[in-house]
Amino acid sequence: MSHRRGLRFAKTTCPICGSKEVARDDSKGDLLCTNCGHIMTRRETRAVGKYEVAQHLKRNGKMTFPMLREVTGASDDKLFGVIQNMENMGLIQDIGGKYTLTKRGQRWYRQRLGQEWGY
Ligand SMILES: [Zn+2]
Repeated sequence: MSHRRGLRFAKTTCPICGSKEVARDDSKGDLLCTNCGHIMTRRETRAVGKYEVAQHLKRNGKMTFPMLREVTGASDDKLFGVIQNMENMGLIQDIGGKYTLTKRGQRWYRQRLGQEWGY
């Protein structure tokens, strides 16, 4: 697999062909399907849930608000609402402008993960 400068793979599925090989162009912020060439612009924002945020934090460790917005594709206000909710529940904490899962948040995530897989 070759990597062009500025391109990295996004955790998104192409809505056209269903390929998971979707690359993100950091300079423009667009997503490009490397299979069929479909371009998804970042204007399309979508709903984001606590589980998804927890998943990204679990995978990447500490993340800033812009990083989370980038990986979830959510709009500022949607994401802010979810993050605030998670902070209120004690699932995440803000350390120097970066969010991380708390111990409680990690437990919550594992429980949700178990449900997801039907354990
Ligand atoms: Zn495609």
